[in-house]
Amino acid sequence: MALHFIDNRSVPSASGQTLPVIDPADGQTYDSIARGNAADVDAAVQAARRCLHGAWSRLTAAERGRLLMKLSAAVAAHADELAAIEQRDCGKPTKQAKADALALVRYFEFYAGAGDKLHGHTIPYLDGYSVLTWHEPHGVTGHVIPWNYPMQIFGRSVGGALAAGNVCVVKPSEDACLSLLRVAELAAEVGFPPGAINIVTGYGHEVGDALARHPGVDHISFTGSPRVGTLIQQAAAERHCPVTLELGGKGPQIVFDDADVDAALPFIVNAIVQNSGQTCSAGSRLLVQRGLYEPLLQRLGEAFTALRAGPPTLDLDLGPLIRQTQQERVRGFLDEVRRDGLPIVAQGRIDPAADANGYYAAPTLVRDVPPQHRLAQEEVFGPVLAAMPFEDEDEAVRLANGTSFGLVAGVWTRDGARQLRMARRVKAGQVFINNYGAGGGVELPFGGVKSSGHGREKGFEALLGFTTLKTVAIRHG
Ligand code: NAD
Repeated sequence: MALHFIDNRSVPSASGQTLPVIDPADGQTYDSIARGNAADVDAAVQAARRCLHGAWSRLTAAERGRLLMKLSAAVAAHADELAAIEQRDCGKPTKQAKADALALVRYFEFYAGAGDKLHGHTIPYLDGYSVLTWHEPHGVTGHVIPWNYPMQIFGRSVGGALAAGNVCVVKPSEDACLSLLRVAELAAEVGFPPGAINIVTGYGHEVGDALARHPGVDHISFTGSPRVGTLIQQAAAERHCPVTLELGGKGPQIVFDDADVDAALPFIVNAIVQNSGQTCSAGSRLLVQRGLYEPLLQRLGEAFTALRAGPPTLDLDLGPLIRQTQQERVRGFLDEVRRDGLPIVAQGRIDPAADANGYYAAPTLVRDVPPQHRLAQEEVFGPVLAAMPFEDEDEAVRLANGTSFGLVAGVWTRDGARQLRMARRVKAGQVFINNYGAGGGVELPFGGVKSSGHGREKGFEALLGFTTLKTVAIRHG
């Protein structure tokens, strides 16, 4: 049984209640986690505050960096173990699970070297004054994390927060928290003081909500659905607590007639297949200029037909989805596609070795999707790609910007001037030209506009979000 991690110790929930841990590959329960509540959140926040004003306050930025470097090394040494935990908990194919563990190594490494470079400014002001700015940590930061990339999102969010001088209370998804509990143990082993990293497991409406409302939490970093993002922001607004929201996406892959199709094809497939499409930055809409529409769909159809979903340890193209409700959601979208007579170009296969009780979904390519169709507007969070044609650049921009989201976009063209025009005109937090980095790049600031959220994580930019700026004006005459 997995317990909360508070004050560098594993502790049961105050209520004594637990939740089952289900293997998405066969639908069977194989472990349990503590079901936390507001009392557990309070214990974690108290521990964090003691640490903030105690051991943590005595560390310099360089010393915090050294601890993060040690944690990075510990995660590297346990990468296979962590990948195996994540694989069973989330149903990830082996390559994806290992990539996630290695991304965690890299996040800690990146932020280890960044915290002591948070320089302020001096500002010219009135005669006889000196003005300087300091980037100070918020204090206790709360982190609400989804199930699709637990290790990666923990790395980018907690890594940045610690480097900037905060201490953390983390609420992982009730569907995926085992790897993070192990990482917190490793942190304690390499010397993080008690209270620096605390994890409270359980349901969102019980633990996540209590965290967002707790007066001892000074900043909330939330990654998850737009619906819950709204709830978190409302709860935090009650006490004017700053919030970073990383929400969903409906990423357009925009392919012009002059694109290098050979180069684009594997990116387009991977952007919707990676992690079974359960990626906020998935390239889930394919916008293709008319002249290339038929030939590209033909080739993509062949690629989709060759895809296979199956047991995570077989390391096929896709594993199962995280849970039954997610499988039902994907089926619901495909039912609508059939009801509305949209042509399905191709579907991949579910491998015969897959357990019938596992939450598998075959990757599916749908064409001629009307821009206002639910499949073109809403996040499926599954391996379903919606293709539609466009005539010219203006229409491509209109379609690309025609959803409530704005997280990531891809543009495929050899025309250099068009590359820059498109990068400017597409409303998204990240635009990839002739490549598509679904979630990739520890160094690259990441986040959205519109309903994809606000604030940035990853890269150096994230550090600024985990600080508050203090202006000091000295009148010395
Ligand atoms: P979710 O919003 O249901 O849950 C996310 C987290 O919020 C979980 O830990 C959950 O327990 C918690 N939560 C649920 N209800 C809550 C409440 N009332 N108060 C506080 N916390 C609550 O999302 P999910 O299903 O876990 O993840 C899928 C969603 O996350 C998708 O929309 C996806 O696009 C988004 N996502 C975004 C990013 C990004 O960086 N932009 C990354 C990954 C996932």
